[in-house]
Amino acid sequence: MKKLLILLIAIVLIISCKSNKQPETDTKPIVTASILPQKYFIDRIVNGKIDVNVMVPEGSDPHIYEPSAKQMKDLSNSNAYFKMGHIEFELAWMSKFAALNPSMKIVNLSKNALLIEPENLHDDHDHEDHGHHHGVDPHIWSSPLEVKKICKLLVENLVVLYPDYKDEFETNYKTLISEIDSLDLSIKEKLKTIEGKKFMIYHSALAYFARDYNLEQISIETDGKEPSPIEIKNIIELAQKENIRVIFVQKQFNTNSAEVLAREINGHVVQIDPLGYDWMQTTKLISNEIALIYSVE
Ligand SMILES: [Zn+2]
Repeated sequence: MKKLLILLIAIVLIISCKSNKQPETDTKPIVTASILPQKYFIDRIVNGKIDVNVMVPEGSDPHIYEPSAKQMKDLSNSNAYFKMGHIEFELAWMSKFAALNPSMKIVNLSKNALLIEPENLHDDHDHEDHGHHHGVDPHIWSSPLEVKKICKLLVENLVVLYPDYKDEFETNYKTLISEIDSLDLSIKEKLKTIEGKKFMIYHSALAYFARDYNLEQISIETDGKEPSPIEIKNIIELAQKENIRVIFVQKQFNTNSAEVLAREINGHVVQIDPLGYDWMQTTKLISNEIALIYSVE
């Protein structure tokens, strides 16, 4: 009888503990990530078993973004926060996120990345501008090789958080990695004849992609600001010398100066979306567009 009583108390305790953690009993566990490509990687691994809350919504600029009150509330229900690592809003907000939900596990997805550090630090600059020349280039997810490391960290942490799904998550992870490997091979094949070539982009979102496929990224923006007249002149001369007629722009950014430049070099603007959800498709499109720059001679 005594044993039964203890058992009953234990069961009541377990149930109350559980309902404490998850007020709405039929909701899925939640993890939070910063940007949409991360949600894609997590969704591919968890296949609907876990909900993914994204802090920077579609169309927002993660360098200057501030989370809403509702997002802060969703964050407080998250078991983990997967940060990209070096995005401005993460640097500004992470300590507040951690304070809001102290039991939330914070995982840095660029922990194993081969980071692109700033070439020279301008410490006399004010730190309020949009760009990220002050620190590490944050756009790590533009490189498939770096994304493989990100996905490895994701699966390692997700199986610890949700051990019931270990086998399923690891199987999904392996499928994802083999798709990334195929993508990497097809990009290498596509870009092999243009090794060492330059491409132009308004905002420097493809530095890791450029590094890993032996290309050179020329960004129009300098220090997160519109280029000066002398910089514009230099870019036009470079474009003419290298016969570059394409300028990539990102839909999150104002692209007036890119349009003006494109007219000056008798070229055109091509919109890409490195912050889009479907990373696999986005990366494929970006590599196609880069290959196209040099395909018409
Ligand atoms: Zn950026």
